[in-house]
Amino acid sequence: MSYDNYKLSNPIDDGYNNELVTSCCGVEEESSETSNCCDSKFWAETDICGECKEHADTYMVCTECGDDEDCYTMIEEYEYEQNMRDHYDEMKSDGDRDER
Ligand SMILES: [Zn+2]
Ligand SMILES: [Zn+2]
Repeated sequence: MSYDNYKLSNPIDDGYNNELVTSCCGVEEESSETSNCCDSKFWAETDICGECKEHADTYMVCTECGDDEDCYTMIEEYEYEQNMRDHYDEMKSDGDRDER
């Protein structure tokens, strides 16, 4: 493989690596095993909430911290990395200011 081909296979450029990640932890989200109304188990194999016996849906949770989808948004992985870098830069410049 030539160097040019290697460059072209950059995962960010070719779109293979644009998985969405949670904005809080930068990981995948997963579907909760419980209902979005009562946070209770589903009734057998149905979509009926075992607690209130009403139709219910699952909700999505962060696989890292377990927070539900209200606490984060799904962003591109590179966005998360960018945010982390910005955050780090901020912390660094804050530190610099303190030293003066
Ligand atoms: Zn319920
Ligand atoms: Zn999280």
